[in-house]
Amino acid sequence: MSNTIFDVIVVGVGGMGSATCYELARRGQRVLGLERFDIGHSMGSSHGDTRMLRLGYFEGQSYVPMVLRAHQLWREIGAKIGDDLLTITGTLDIIEPGLDIVERGEAACKAYNLPYEVLDARKIMSRYPAFKLPHDYRGLFQPDGGYVKSEKAILAFTALAIDAGAEIHPREQVLSFEPTATGGVKVRTNARTYEAGRLVLSPGPWINKFVPALKPVTQPYRQVFGWFRPLEPELFKKGNFPSFTLKIPEGHYYGFPLYGHPGLKVGGPHHGREACDPDTLIRENRPSDEQGMRDCLATYLPAAMGTALQLKVCIYTMTPDEDFIIDLMPEAPQIVVASPCSGHGFKFASAMGEILADLAMDIKSPFDLSPFRISRFAGNS
Ligand SMILES: Cc1cc2nc3c(=O)[nH]c(=O)nc-3n(C[C@H](O)[C@H](O)[C@H](O)COP(=O)(O)OP(=O)(O)OC[C@H]3O[C@@H](n4cnc5c(N)ncnc54)[C@H](O)[C@@H]3O)c2cc1C
Repeated sequence: MSNTIFDVIVVGVGGMGSATCYELARRGQRVLGLERFDIGHSMGSSHGDTRMLRLGYFEGQSYVPMVLRAHQLWREIGAKIGDDLLTITGTLDIIEPGLDIVERGEAACKAYNLPYEVLDARKIMSRYPAFKLPHDYRGLFQPDGGYVKSEKAILAFTALAIDAGAEIHPREQVLSFEPTATGGVKVRTNARTYEAGRLVLSPGPWINKFVPALKPVTQPYRQVFGWFRPLEPELFKKGNFPSFTLKIPEGHYYGFPLYGHPGLKVGGPHHGREACDPDTLIRENRPSDEQGMRDCLATYLPAAMGTALQLKVCIYTMTPDEDFIIDLMPEAPQIVVASPCSGHGFKFASAMGEILADLAMDIKSPFDLSPFRISRFAGNS
């Protein structure tokens, strides 16, 4: 078949790729989005209904302007599709003693004038009686945080992209790509070959299969989450319970109020270190997956300890410093490399569409992307 010419080809129509296809098409670019599975699937990093959005970012203050833009865009895109993509529940980051997560989050809130409260264990338990915490635990509450509906968002971005003129090919796998002599890119799939001026690589946990140079610094990890039918559902309804993270000696857990599902979604240990390959990953649940979450619930959220209605496996792509990779490929600057994960990327997807579209169109980003450069890993091999 003959080649087809596009301005930009986007590899991977998941969280980041779908937002990028939409933004590029909205700007009048001829866009092709290639996705090896269905649009909205359970093989990558974005399934499981919800992803938390916190504003005063303890992971680094340089993320705050991006998350504020993302927050605004989630609302705008929700209005455009006539359905909420962002639900505000308040977020609560609870920590064991000896950690500075509360202080770092508080500093970010102060720097950007965001509302917050620091709560001791007693105050947390009186406001949210579902929690049972040791007396020396503390938390940072942010009223403007909540969760993004991740699966719905991917479908929404994809539909908007198609409406704006993008071509989206589900169930078409990219096999290889190569820069062309004219400064563009040739992309080969299991169906045909395409050409474009620019390429955006957003293949999620498959990133280092496309960019082998990133292998030493992008490691996929197997993660699990589940939906537990609470013993006392009333305690976990929105308003009675926040979206939370809980850092305890056993690891970092998280969860959400009851939403559109009779089970309470709980995940963790977040940043559990079970390295995997996305092509050979064990996607079935193991008894130890459920047990890990139950052990946490038994101590800290005993009223959530009902039947595990569903359990799912998902994949993080971690970098050594847990910051994103957003850059042009050093040896081929017509290729944008996007790995905004390390277990905390989805909330940015709406803003990431703009950021990646800017990079693909040689537009200077309004955000400081220097912390996300590939060159920071020089020497990691
Ligand atoms: C358990 C879990 C909990 C998380 N919690 C949070 C949270 O609370 N808040 C938050 O902000 N973030 C969170 N994250 C992180 C967030 O989900 C990720 O940052 C985000 O999903 C990454 O999106 P992506 O587009 O890079 O990857 P994906 O959405 O996986 O998209 C990549 C796409 O590329 C496609 N692809 C791959 N190879 C090919 C190929 N050869 N050809 C065509 N297509 C290809 C894949 O099929 C996939 O659809 C969490 C992640 C996990 C796993």
